[in-house]
Amino acid sequence: STQEWQRADAAHFLHPFTDFQSLARKGSRIITRAEGIYLHDSEGHKILDAMSGLWCVNVGYGRQELVEAATRQLQELPFYNAFFQTATPPAIELAELLAEVTPPQFKHVFFSGSGSEGNDTVVRMVRRYWDLLGQPQRHVIISRKNAYHGSTMAGASLGGMGGMHAQGGLPIPGIVHMEQPYWHELGRGLSRDEFGRVAAGWLEAKILEVGADQVAAFIGEPVQGAGGVIVPPETYWPEIQRICDKYGILLVSDEVICGFGRTGQWFGCERFGTRPDLMTFAKGVTSGYIPLGGVMVGDRVANVLIERGGEFNHGYTYSGHPVACAVAVANIRLIQREGLVERVRDDTGPYLAECFDALRDHPLVGEVQTCGLMGAVLLVKDKASGAPFPEALELGMVCRGHCFGNGLVMRAVGDRMIIAPPLVMTRAQIDDMLVLIRRALDLTLADAQR
Ligand code: PLP
Repeated sequence: STQEWQRADAAHFLHPFTDFQSLARKGSRIITRAEGIYLHDSEGHKILDAMSGLWCVNVGYGRQELVEAATRQLQELPFYNAFFQTATPPAIELAELLAEVTPPQFKHVFFSGSGSEGNDTVVRMVRRYWDLLGQPQRHVIISRKNAYHGSTMAGASLGGMGGMHAQGGLPIPGIVHMEQPYWHELGRGLSRDEFGRVAAGWLEAKILEVGADQVAAFIGEPVQGAGGVIVPPETYWPEIQRICDKYGILLVSDEVICGFGRTGQWFGCERFGTRPDLMTFAKGVTSGYIPLGGVMVGDRVANVLIERGGEFNHGYTYSGHPVACAVAVANIRLIQREGLVERVRDDTGPYLAECFDALRDHPLVGEVQTCGLMGAVLLVKDKASGAPFPEALELGMVCRGHCFGNGLVMRAVGDRMIIAPPLVMTRAQIDDMLVLIRRALDLTLADAQR
């Protein structure tokens, strides 16, 4: 029964990013199965999953092709490593396919088991790159406040979220942070485009502060996801690219959320016009059906690693796991066959933008932003000034509760309500989602006025 699950859950399972006592008090919701864009829980509720699990189930739930690919590979060869100058057909096929769907500078991939491990790989790889070029002092990586790059020591150090550094003595040495391109909070009267250039200029200021000859790389998510779907101004990324080029520092695009169609292009760097040297991926590569991550390695870095490298002392037992790679191949082929990236770019992405724009008339809504099939709605106390509600009200969490109560998963980041639904979502399903969002906003408003 649900109560038995909840009891055992609270007794034994330490959930990630969760207050253990609160979980024990309230009991977790037990998700038992899913189909398309809908989850089902142990109490018989049907829930529209506007978060694609955790930004990953891009092709929706219940896709038999992926199940069959995993089953076939489990029967044929469930595991073999890639350490002993050995490889498996699915890992090779996936490496080749990734080279096909990613921008042309990427012909090589290093596999990991997750996005966090991918970003750990990035830290080691960029430092190795500069070592091989005889510039071992060049080890500093610049990241941004409010970024999320994972939970391993290096991933959490690259990340810039308040609470994470306080636990565990982070960041590790050689990682520094600059401000994020959040116009609503930091724009100070500038137009979005003006602000984009100013915010990119903070990179140049940071490079000069650290010393240009010390800086190895800059890393950023094309759209900051877990930070609250912060869509940067169009002027931001081209200017970041120009500054990286000017100082010869490597540009790393963390595509763990933005990759595989989320923004309406295969990768977020294509949406925002950058040419990264390295690109982290995970989540959407298998649509979350099985864990897999990695780093696409551009020619600039790959040539040095391969030609001057010797052995790169880095890797994971599950680098190139054959079952995960077989699922990824099936998933990418499915995205191609169903034209999901083009569908987000030409149809559902623009439609979601229209629908979110229409939410501006709601008394609680101070700002809306979308990019492809991700979006954010900011709840404010005063629409005219954009003044926020007192933090203690935790209105985002109140709204999240009303969403859940009405059969919708929408995430709260402070008072930003965010979504990233499966890319298979139809216009009619977007309409259904908007009905649920409005209902949750109305209930939240009633609470705020109480
Ligand atoms: N990078 C970004 C942008 C992410 O959003 C995440 C996870 O949400 C990660 C890295 C870490 O990936 P994982 O949880 O697979 O380790």
